[in-house]
Amino acid sequence: MNIALIGLGNMGLPMAANLLKAGHDVAGCDLAEANRAAHAAQGGRGVASVAEAVAGAEVVITMLPAGKHVAEVVLGEGGVLAHAAPGALLIDSSTIDVATARRVAEAAESSGRMMLDAPVSGGVGGAVAGTLTFMCGGTESAFARAEPVLKGMGRSIVHAGPSGAGQAAKACNNMMLAISMIGVSEGFLLADRLGLDRQKLFDIASVSTGQCWALTSYCPAPGPVPSAPSNRDYQPGFAAALMLKDLGLAQQAAEDSGAPTPLGAHALRLYQALVEAGQGGADFSAMFRFLGATARGEIA
Ligand code: NAD
Repeated sequence: MNIALIGLGNMGLPMAANLLKAGHDVAGCDLAEANRAAHAAQGGRGVASVAEAVAGAEVVITMLPAGKHVAEVVLGEGGVLAHAAPGALLIDSSTIDVATARRVAEAAESSGRMMLDAPVSGGVGGAVAGTLTFMCGGTESAFARAEPVLKGMGRSIVHAGPSGAGQAAKACNNMMLAISMIGVSEGFLLADRLGLDRQKLFDIASVSTGQCWALTSYCPAPGPVPSAPSNRDYQPGFAAALMLKDLGLAQQAAEDSGAPTPLGAHALRLYQALVEAGQGGADFSAMFRFLGATARGEIA
């Protein structure tokens, strides 16, 4: 297939590499010349303008930082809707707010094109390995067209519901994850103060009702889970700054919809403090180290 991928950053570049491996012709577009050159080096076509990238493309994928970039690239003068073929399928895999996802999809549909919001989970590691989870929002027919393409980049392709449902799933999941990560961190900090061995708490909680992914796969206290970022000085993984971004999107959605999310709001404030302490590039499980340092008065 002829595919255009707009946004060749940390995620988009390896996703494009997997589409090439799957046999597609991929025109990659990015503002940064270095990223276009990297795409050319992996066997794709690196192009500077969106118009050039989408010319002749059957599928247009966007992988951009935030809603304003997606709106500009899709709706803008030199953008996708102005230049893509009438039958092109649009897939936005960026993590953006639900309201913008729905607005952009409506504009695409008014122009006669199908559009899916399809944010991902799995991070850069999943993008490189081709094992991402795609959470898709859009019509059944848009999903049916997108699924074989997304399979080239991911392992689990889930249809979450109508337009915006993919972004809604991502916001809900990551808010739950942030809250559970803080909860597990607090459990281990309390255990330390009570003189309870960390491994013992892990052995007990992982087969008790405190069990959750943040504990058993990603334990924020160094020791019990050897593969967790806590054992490599909290190198990401999933950076705290990205978690803060996702919590902002979740709280915006909660405010817009009137959903009660008091712990989501508090998690956002704690991740804001972590990022302001200069830890935005650390893994989000560095919350454990941050809360401990704050309690010891090392961070004001
Ligand atoms: P990134 O900043 O590395 O890449 C974004 C790219 O978009 C940049 O290379 C930038 O130059 C390009 N860009 C911006 N505006 C453009 C425009 N108008 N035209 C062409 N290119 C443009 O970001 P990333 O880490 O690749 O993340 C992309 C999206 O995926 C974000 O929405 C992010 O929240 C989401 N995401 C990231 C991760 C992760 O671990 N990095 C995990 C899940 C989801």
